[in-house]
Amino acid sequence: MLGGVKPSGARRSWWLREALTAEAAASPHLTAAAPPLRGSISADVVIIGGGYTGMWTALRISELEPSARVVLLEADICGGGPSGRNGGFVTNWWDEFPTLLQRYGPIGARQMGVAIEAAVDDVGAFCATNGIDAWFTKAGSLLVSAAPAQDGAWDVAVESLRAHGLADKYVPLSAADVAGRVRSPVFRDGVFMPGAATVQPAVLARGLRRVLLERGVTILEGTEAVEIDGHTRGPFGPLGAGARRAPTRRGTGVGFRPVRIRTRSTTGDGEVLAANAVLGLNAWAAGWPWFGRRLVTWSSYIVLTEPIPDRLADIGWTGGEGLADARFTLHYLRTTADGRIAIGGGGGTAGFGGRIGDVFTDSLDDVRRAAAGLRRLFPSIADVRIEDAWGGPIDITSDHLPWFGSVPGRPIHFVHGYSGNGVGPSVVAGRILAARAVEASADPSLALALANGGAPRAFPPEPARFIGARLVREAAARRESMEERGGSPPRLLREVSRLPRRIGYHLGPD
Ligand SMILES: Cc1cc2nc3c(=O)[nH]c(=O)nc-3n(C[C@H](O)[C@H](O)[C@H](O)COP(=O)(O)OP(=O)(O)OC[C@H]3O[C@@H](n4cnc5c(N)ncnc54)[C@H](O)[C@@H]3O)c2cc1C
Repeated sequence: MLGGVKPSGARRSWWLREALTAEAAASPHLTAAAPPLRGSISADVVIIGGGYTGMWTALRISELEPSARVVLLEADICGGGPSGRNGGFVTNWWDEFPTLLQRYGPIGARQMGVAIEAAVDDVGAFCATNGIDAWFTKAGSLLVSAAPAQDGAWDVAVESLRAHGLADKYVPLSAADVAGRVRSPVFRDGVFMPGAATVQPAVLARGLRRVLLERGVTILEGTEAVEIDGHTRGPFGPLGAGARRAPTRRGTGVGFRPVRIRTRSTTGDGEVLAANAVLGLNAWAAGWPWFGRRLVTWSSYIVLTEPIPDRLADIGWTGGEGLADARFTLHYLRTTADGRIAIGGGGGTAGFGGRIGDVFTDSLDDVRRAAAGLRRLFPSIADVRIEDAWGGPIDITSDHLPWFGSVPGRPIHFVHGYSGNGVGPSVVAGRILAARAVEASADPSLALALANGGAPRAFPPEPARFIGARLVREAAARRESMEERGGSPPRLLREVSRLPRRIGYHLGPD
């Protein structure tokens, strides 16, 4: 089924190749519009990371304070990381409602849910207003049980939403309802999130880049920040325990000291001095001293079939819904505008020590797992050719929610830890970070509970984290595969897979 397809970090994702080809045809001048930094430059705000987080932040700053000088640094090209590699699910957080309730109470949880849901429409509106054909399709998203052990995985969320008058956000479906949307011999009942959408993720990322350039943001691609405010990437430093504090005074007060970023690019070393900095580093954050212990990096891989519109019609999957099974090591699937299936997940692999290397882009094992998921979920299309495969890193926190903060005493603001679910949430993150960076203290985004949440619980230091993460993943994947085959996993396997929850992390199977 895989043929000769091998994932490779040296190759762009299929999404990004498509997006860059279209961009080169429509606006060839844009390709060279973001050259690497030469020498030194100053800014009101420097943003590090040219993914959705960095770019939504820059966009929002251009709305809040159009005269602000914004410089965005990206080591690769904008969208070269997970923002141009992801599954393109723009989901809501209603499935996370019980966790939100626990952390923020009923008002905070509802506000967060509403804000993330509204972000889906914001993505659609942004694309429509700016002529970005990112295939924005708001057809909702289905979570299905694909084995008896997965039945009712959504019950707690459905119940707590119902208790708070939000039943329409996450609607249980019978097996017949599921089959009315997509047919598989292993699908049972499920749950539907009507407010979710899908996009062509890299077209969205490159569209954001174009709009930012049009608004006068200075984008410096191929420019890596190698030192931030005197710190360098490397082995783990302090916990960053104080990073939960609210931002302190910034700007031009007495004793003001700009943030100094040293950069490296093909054109040599450079420097940016800025009054404020925003970090949208995603998994790369795990290599910086402030964040290392609070994030686990994890790989996620996607395989893409040849176009099979007739076969999609055979299984009734023509409505454009996003789809996932209810494993912990979940498979997520969606269709493309030309009738392919993109399927990701099935396990992934933990990274070590905040290093972002080949394990995130070149693992044939991870690709095989994703492809095996397609064969199991849709045996009738097991013969289709896989034409592409790629992977990328995700950054996981102990409670599966992103972590917003500011470096204590310094005007450096960040959000990391989307835990594999950042497409929609990054819109809200961009608002929060922009408001912090330009000190728009009345901005409603700053009142959101998450903007003021504390740091997530730390993970164990390396190598315990790496060993533990691999052990738990292996146990969970084996347990879930046995359950899918109708077997009863040994107690030891179940207990190891439950370990993270047993010791208080909001991660892993129950
Ligand atoms: C295979 C896969 C599938 C996914 N599917 C989904 C999905 O369907 N839905 C969903 O919501 N989420 C999904 N995600 C997660 C989602 O892609 C991320 O949460 C989101 O893209 C995060 O955006 P970001 O801007 O924070 O990070 P990124 O897109 O990773 O951007 C960070 C950028 O920072 C740059 N950078 C890092 N260090 C430096 C430095 N020192 N100097 C300069 N630049 C630097 C990197 O090159 C990178 O481009 C998926 C992720 C993967 C890998």
